[in-house]
Amino acid sequence: MQRLTRRRRELQWPQKLSLMEKGSLELKMPSDKASSSRLPVLGLGRKRRLDKENAPEPEKKRIRGTGTTIPMSCLKVPTVATMPRAKKQVTDVKSRKPISTNSAPKPAVSPAKARKGANKRPAWDVKGQLCDLRKEFSACQVQAEVLTRENQELRSQLGPAEQQARILEAENKSLIRELTEARAQTKEDQLELVKLHARVQELEEFLHTQESLIQSMQEKQLQLQEDRRDLASRLETQEKQLQESVAALAKSQAEITAQAALLAERTEHLYCLEMERRHLLNQLQELKGNIRVFCRVRPVLPGEPAPPPDLILFPPGPHGASEPSTQLSLTRPSDDRCSIIGKLPSSPVRYDFSFDQVFLPGSKQNEVFEEVSLLVQSALDGYPVCIFAYGQTGSGKTFTMEGGPGGDPQVEGLIPRAVRHLFSIAKKLEAQGWSYTFVASYVEIYNETIRDLLVRVGGAQKCQGGECEIRLAGPGSKDLIVTNAQYVPVSCEEEVESLLHLARQNRAVARTTQNEHSSRSHSVFQLQISGKHVGQNLHCTAPLNLVDLAGSERLDPRLSTGPADRERLKETQAINSSLSTLGLVIMALSNKEAHVPYRNSKLTYLLQNSLRGNAKMLMFVNISPLEENFSESLNSLRFASKVNQCVIGTARANKK
Ligand code: ADP
Ligand code: MG
Repeated sequence: MQRLTRRRRELQWPQKLSLMEKGSLELKMPSDKASSSRLPVLGLGRKRRLDKENAPEPEKKRIRGTGTTIPMSCLKVPTVATMPRAKKQVTDVKSRKPISTNSAPKPAVSPAKARKGANKRPAWDVKGQLCDLRKEFSACQVQAEVLTRENQELRSQLGPAEQQARILEAENKSLIRELTEARAQTKEDQLELVKLHARVQELEEFLHTQESLIQSMQEKQLQLQEDRRDLASRLETQEKQLQESVAALAKSQAEITAQAALLAERTEHLYCLEMERRHLLNQLQELKGNIRVFCRVRPVLPGEPAPPPDLILFPPGPHGASEPSTQLSLTRPSDDRCSIIGKLPSSPVRYDFSFDQVFLPGSKQNEVFEEVSLLVQSALDGYPVCIFAYGQTGSGKTFTMEGGPGGDPQVEGLIPRAVRHLFSIAKKLEAQGWSYTFVASYVEIYNETIRDLLVRVGGAQKCQGGECEIRLAGPGSKDLIVTNAQYVPVSCEEEVESLLHLARQNRAVARTTQNEHSSRSHSVFQLQISGKHVGQNLHCTAPLNLVDLAGSERLDPRLSTGPADRERLKETQAINSSLSTLGLVIMALSNKEAHVPYRNSKLTYLLQNSLRGNAKMLMFVNISPLEENFSESLNSLRFASKVNQCVIGTARANKK
């Protein structure tokens, strides 16, 4: 823009502008009418010449007293000043036509006039005519001289004029160049101007946006001010409320302190009550007998022959059907073979048994567990607990201890239910300051050999890393452990469930390789429970043992002396031996004999700490309802009855 302004200032010189526009330079001759003469140079325009003639006086300059004036504004170059002086007559350079001047000498008689005068002479006046012609001739000669002089003068003027013209042309060219540059500059400036316009527009839009933003901000500010006022009033209200709350809090804190003291007192009282409960529960268990026997008769399974209706009877107790059944009668069917061989048929024989409780074939798993739950809970109170399932193969021992097939919660057995119950009671006791830990193990005793059922390598007949033997847990310890067996800490029923699953898998593998020895072996699930009460500095530990005993069936008289039968014979003898040892141990304990033959079998040896002292024992005698199993059922009931009588006798004796 500065450049453009400067350029415009330069171009204000009117003469220069005139030259640029017309491409010509005008020279002005004296303005006086008589002597004024125009000298056209290189196509000067007529109009322009007239304008220049009318130019104000100070701009004109008289040149060498000839009366010819040239406008000073046009005389940019000194060449104008050195222009040759015009003589009295000036000739148009292009047309060579003489232009009248004041100073041009006129002939005395012009040749034409001379001819005119001659024409008037009569034809016979030859002399006169000759005279006229001479005059005309001399006039012509004078005129020719004048013209020749004029011509010479004009010729001398031509050179400087041409030089002047060249200079002016050069100047013209430079001016045209400047004009072109100025036009280009103008174009550039116009473009810049357009850009500036666009920028201005943009800025205006931005300004507009900013203005609207400012307006909205102002509105927001107003809103915020309103909110602030609102908040201030709310704050004031809340401060008042806070003061009230602080006062209430102080009051509450005093109350809390009083309540805390009361709570401590009540906790202490609760602890006393808990200990009292444990004591009473123990007394109740003792009253019921530290060794109890429950009988459970399984239902007839689909596909099995229906037994005679009076094969097993359940006589109601002294208090009628509302009381749990404790009686069971087994009736030997009459022997039809007697009539065939001509003897009188033997009359049916009835065997009556009485137990702590008898579960009928329709009894559900939860009903059975309900009767066991208090006993299981004793383990949390520090009493060793042992629950056995006794009976012939197929009588329902595994169903009672582990549960039925398919993972149906309805048919879950004692082990998962007992574990869940213990975890839930332990959780409740946590509120009273008790904390419990549980460690599980699961072993199998087959032919007096112990095998870990929690071993992770499937199919191994022996424990991982060596033989499983019963040893003291450590020097000076009375606790027994099975060497090379897994002792897994558990804290929820899912973990226990996965251990039971693993044990089932290990048993299944063994079954295929060892001729279904699962029913020929004892399986012992052990849960070692440790409880601590930090506040009272109390510590209690006790094992819960859930034992699925091997089938109690007697030696099959049909067995031969072949290798397979010999193996079966050995198994049966081992089972019989360990089961009879169990009976003997129970009897020795109940009789408080000095010597208890624990070491006579691996089973009693392993369980000795859970059988002696303040231990509590429960035996399930499982009975098949089938007629074909009558004999084995009778044997099982006899064995269980012996145990039951012993215990009852002892309990009573203790009572006394
Ligand atoms: P054992 O372990 O004494 O050899 P099982 O527990 O394997 O006997 O039981 C044999 C069969 O009888 C299994 O199919 C089992 O599901 C079924 N059974 C046992 N007791 C019951 C019961 N109380 N209710 C329903 N089915 C039972
Ligand atoms: Mg079984």
